[in-house]
Amino acid sequence: MGMKKYIYAFHEGNKEMKSLLGGKGANLAEMTKIGLPVPPGFTVTTEACNKYYEDDKKISQEIIDEVFNNLHELEEKIQKKFGDIENPLLVSVRSGAVISMPGMMDTILNLGLNDESVVGLAKATGNERFAYDSYRRFIQMFSDVVLNIQKYKFDHILEKEKELSKAQLDTDLTVENLKNIIKEYKTIVKKETRKEFPQGPKDQLLMAIEAVFDSWNNARAIVYREINDIPSHYGTAVNVQSMVFGNMGDTSGTGVAFTRNPATGEKKMFGEFLMNAQGEDVVAGIRTPQPIRELKNTMPKVYEQFVNVANLLETHYKDMQDIEFTIEKGRLYLLQTRNGKRTAAAAINVAVDMVGEGIIDKEVAVMRIEPTQLDQLLHPTFEKEAMEKIEKITQGLPASPGAATGKIYFNANDVVKAANEGERAILVRLETSPEDIEGMVSAQGILTARGGMTSHAAVVARGMGKCCVAGCGEIKVDEMNKVFKVDGKIFKEGDYISLDGNTGNVYGGKLPTKEPELSGNFAKLMSWADEIRTLKIRTNADTPRDALTAVKFGAEGIGLCRTEHMFFEEERIPAVRQMIVAQNVEERMEALNKLLPFQKNDFVGIFKAMGEKPVTVRLLDPPLHEFLPNNDDDIKILSEQIKVSYSTLKEIVEDLKEFNPMLGHRGCRLAITYPEIYEMQVRAIIMAAIEVKKEENIHIQPEIMVPLIGHEKELKIIKELIVKTADKVIEESSADLVYKIGTMIEVPRAALTADDIAKHAEFFSFGTNDLTQMTYAFSRDDAGRFIGEYRKKEIFEKDPFQRLDQNGVGKLMEIAVQLGRKTRTNIKLGICGEHGGDPESIDFCHRIGLEYVSCSPYRVPIARLAAAHSAIKNK
Ligand code: ADP
Ligand code: MG
Ligand code: MG
Repeated sequence: MGMKKYIYAFHEGNKEMKSLLGGKGANLAEMTKIGLPVPPGFTVTTEACNKYYEDDKKISQEIIDEVFNNLHELEEKIQKKFGDIENPLLVSVRSGAVISMPGMMDTILNLGLNDESVVGLAKATGNERFAYDSYRRFIQMFSDVVLNIQKYKFDHILEKEKELSKAQLDTDLTVENLKNIIKEYKTIVKKETRKEFPQGPKDQLLMAIEAVFDSWNNARAIVYREINDIPSHYGTAVNVQSMVFGNMGDTSGTGVAFTRNPATGEKKMFGEFLMNAQGEDVVAGIRTPQPIRELKNTMPKVYEQFVNVANLLETHYKDMQDIEFTIEKGRLYLLQTRNGKRTAAAAINVAVDMVGEGIIDKEVAVMRIEPTQLDQLLHPTFEKEAMEKIEKITQGLPASPGAATGKIYFNANDVVKAANEGERAILVRLETSPEDIEGMVSAQGILTARGGMTSHAAVVARGMGKCCVAGCGEIKVDEMNKVFKVDGKIFKEGDYISLDGNTGNVYGGKLPTKEPELSGNFAKLMSWADEIRTLKIRTNADTPRDALTAVKFGAEGIGLCRTEHMFFEEERIPAVRQMIVAQNVEERMEALNKLLPFQKNDFVGIFKAMGEKPVTVRLLDPPLHEFLPNNDDDIKILSEQIKVSYSTLKEIVEDLKEFNPMLGHRGCRLAITYPEIYEMQVRAIIMAAIEVKKEENIHIQPEIMVPLIGHEKELKIIKELIVKTADKVIEESSADLVYKIGTMIEVPRAALTADDIAKHAEFFSFGTNDLTQMTYAFSRDDAGRFIGEYRKKEIFEKDPFQRLDQNGVGKLMEIAVQLGRKTRTNIKLGICGEHGGDPESIDFCHRIGLEYVSCSPYRVPIARLAAAHSAIKNK
């Protein structure tokens, strides 16, 4: 049996090996392969990470041996020795997951330094200050990441030393200062761990690798994976790379740059750099970095070289790149490249531009945009007039677009709490860190005082599609006392502000927002998606307003119009209640006759909004007691309103209570017992359709849908009722109108007997909310109590009410599709459950051959794009 290979040197890999080497490792290998200046190193694979967990969090001997073999090769290659007291090899230890997780995992730089090799480094470089600066950074990073000692303890020492020696900046610290700092750092380590700071470079290396593996399961990584749907079995790779130094003086530096603007997509290099600095200095906000174009003045040769490399990388990867680099004494090194994270607007502009530039074709462009990412563009912006009237209090960097208005809170916990109480909250921080992630999720928007366009707040907010204004230097944030001051004004916790992520403007007070538009490149990309997709997209809409919104977003029909929402409106609820408590048919008819004109007008509005597009109306579905008052006071009021004695009414209400309403007297069962209800609804639908047809002289397509069918005979009886009622209305108005009758498939028995049911149904619409509920036998309203635990224990990867359970519920759907078609080859098939807006579930619907999916109006563009993705993927 050949030995398994757990480690690849950079020159052995390439960009296709992401799942094994992680994103960072695969791209370091690729850059090495195409001849770019990458400091050599090697990657410990994700398989090694998984093995580490299989082996109860131990690095096995065979992997240890492989690490040191590779380290030895690295020593040979760059002619330096690990731990050497003359010219030591130093490395960085960098995590690298398959899908990049910015800020989630921790990197250690300058590993290999100890009390002896620091002297060697000073000698070899002739730069004592640099050597000790590197050592103090290393101790701090290692202590934070590996030894879990809190960062602030070290920051405190650094600040104290700066104060004592009157140093303004870190770079002003002298060798003596640095030596003092190192001494105190080591004292802290001793105090916290009861051990000396580890001096053996090989120990340091193994401890660091282990820490990276461990960080795969730290709290913030888990939260990030959860939000971004990254499976936990992917594991992380570890990159061990020889160091290059940006902190060797004025001809050294470090920076990050995007080949295009990640906020807008504009084709213009975008980034920041800092001279005499290392690693995270650029993004940590320690000193203010300079815009990348300034490098042209500082180091013209290096700038030119960098621009060439950036262009080469973009052409090579055929996508916008996010590049990290370091300059060591005037020499450029590449430390990372990846496809740059971008806002949805930027993603669309880059994709459409790249088609224009001939770099990619339309299908690739369509595939470049994650459907759910569009959500960002489908959110409101501020209304112009209101914005001009309100006072702008300050301006920061437009770090992530969108508009947010809400009350301010100064830490993540307070934001989460406020959001849970239904408040719109804005998180205000000096600068965010990974600990703030849950607060960022719950916030409407984020405002920071420090940090640039590539700061933690900016990067994470863009990834989430959340409005963010960063680096707002004029505000003085006092996180302790929960206030910020700007221009003499004070804003306290709970005060309103508004953020414009497109301009960076901050306003004092609330601002009304405006609906988004689908135009320009966005419209162009969507038209490409429409050319490609085969699934039709409908919407779930109960009101003309929702219907119009959906049409604006490209809906091709209504897949589900619920009629019960209409029942709750103030003017009608008394008649609805009267209908429910009626003691005989006459009384019930009287109440229903009052409701008829209301229902008819509702449908007129909807048919007008939809024009010639098909409209599926579902007849009454919920249990009747939902419409009745449930406390004594309200029963009393109702008894006066409808002139039924309190005691009788109370009895009726009690009588209608059910042990298990979800499985009770609802859906088509209502029509089996009280056919008059559906009769009224059908009349309203048909009358409305005829009215609009005549008035607008267009072809109206009503589709009448019966809920909760479980037995074909239910549908047979109800269908006869519908036909009789509808045909009578049509005849009376001497109109001609074609309508369809169909059913929801949402009871497992219906799926299993779909061949019989199809005898009476021209269409099926899968009601996957109920179907999931009944297939799993847990109610959607109660499942919240335990679904969290099910997800933790990985029984469910996703909430089955959000993502279709393809193996179970999906199998029932497949059976129904097959049986339904057997009876009626041209049966129309669609889905109207919540799943109709979830890209992965949409893909399933595409694969089993549904004709359309139906989702809420704001998800229509997402569904259009997801359907195009499915058409491409399943070609
Ligand atoms: P992240 O994934 O958070 O970006 P990285 O592993 O890329 O973390 O490292 C953080 C910083 O350290 C980057 O700015 C990178 O440029 C720097 N860095 C990493 N490895 C080296 C190295 N071998 N030499 C110099 N700088 C390095
Ligand atoms: Mg990086
Ligand atoms: Mg249902």
